[in-house]
Amino acid sequence: MTDIGQRYRRLRSEVPAHVAIVAVSKLQPASAVSRAIDAGARDFGENYVQEAVRKFAAMQGVTKHFIGHVQTNKAKAIAAAFDLVQSVDRLDAALALSKAAAHLGKVLPVLLQINISPGERFGISPQEAPQLAQRIREMENLRLDGVMAIGPVGVDRAQVQAAFERAARTWTKVGGTVLSIGMSGDWREAVAAGSTMIRAGSAIFGPRAAKDTSKHAPGQVPEEAEERT
Ligand SMILES: *Cc1c(COP(=O)(O)O)cnc(C)c1O
Repeated sequence: MTDIGQRYRRLRSEVPAHVAIVAVSKLQPASAVSRAIDAGARDFGENYVQEAVRKFAAMQGVTKHFIGHVQTNKAKAIAAAFDLVQSVDRLDAALALSKAAAHLGKVLPVLLQINISPGERFGISPQEAPQLAQRIREMENLRLDGVMAIGPVGVDRAQVQAAFERAARTWTKVGGTVLSIGMSGDWREAVAAGSTMIRAGSAIFGPRAAKDTSKHAPGQVPEEAEERT
């Protein structure tokens, strides 16, 4: 039997206390989210705007992280529904979010998503990250809090570790207090590399619906398909 509360508490006891856990609840029902909240989870990550808005009605008193691809035509909805956007990876997306945040009269905390994995579609290269960080810092309605990255899949542990160390070095150049690296399968390597925040889905909620586990690596599910339904 799966017990979400038990899984969350076990993960919380294994992950060092100074490292935050974002419970990634994409494709999970609101009832699963409630069980995680009951077990103490207070940070939640979602990849799809429409799904998140539907679920957020039942999610009071938690911090909502957007971790999916930022489509500029969704910037308004993202800025309105989320407390923090972890996945800003290009100037266009930052400008659209800043404009949306300005309309809402708020300052939106963001992370810069950097690409440390050959198989990953999104994220700015570590070389270009400091320059984009500079541009974001000039935007009055965004607050750049640090860096997010998705680790490589299908490589050995040493390569995962090396990729996360690259993210950590990029973080020192970008600045901020948050280094969001590590997921259910690789959080130990991420913590060893200096992670301050992991994003764990399946380790807490169990396996997701098939569309997210077959062809696509995490973070690469085509949002268009989901949003059309
Ligand atoms: C889905 C997803 C996660 C969680 O993945 P798990 O392997 O289930 O822990 C973390 N980060 C991002 C960006 C994701 O898309």
